[in-house]
Amino acid sequence: MFCQARPHVKSLTEGCRFADCGHSAEPGCVVRAAIASGDLPAGRLANYRRLRREAVGVERRAAERRDHRVAVGRRRRLTPRLRDEDPPG
Ligand SMILES: [Zn+2]
Repeated sequence: MFCQARPHVKSLTEGCRFADCGHSAEPGCVVRAAIASGDLPAGRLANYRRLRREAVGVERRAAERRDHRVAVGRRRRLTPRLRDEDPPG
């Protein structure tokens, strides 16, 4: 189960001193150290990376939808004002 596998990786990534560490080539990365010492199975990091990539993709799509809604909202807000400024007929 993901919910069992994730907290272990998460606690390690939180222990990592790099805020946005890729845990791949950074020297001093605790996640890399954990894998090197056999504390963390490499497959689990691969799994974490995949989940993280998916989460980023979901966030990006949500942001795109948000931008679209803002653009639509702007058009809707502008329309009544234009009508008020334009005399009918
Ligand atoms: Zn790291």
